[in-house]
Amino acid sequence: MDPTREPTHTRCAISACGWCDRDGVECRFCAGTGWWRPERPHRDGNGLVVWHRIDEPCRGCAGTGKEHSPLAVS
Ligand SMILES: [Zn+2]
Ligand SMILES: [Zn+2]
Repeated sequence: MDPTREPTHTRCAISACGWCDRDGVECRFCAGTGWWRPERPHRDGNGLVVWHRIDEPCRGCAGTGKEHSPLAVS
């Protein structure tokens, strides 16, 4: 995990979100970083497929780094 990365949001767009109120539950998609880094295939001019790594705010937690999935309820 890159220590320079910080979650982009402290809370998601939902006011009074119960998931944002929880502490210590890291998003399982981004491990609490608020970012995910998928690789996307890109076909270059020669027909070769190259993979580009992209960084974008995690969709699983709206960039908060906190678990937001009801499936994680224990
Ligand atoms: Zn939330
Ligand atoms: Zn996440």
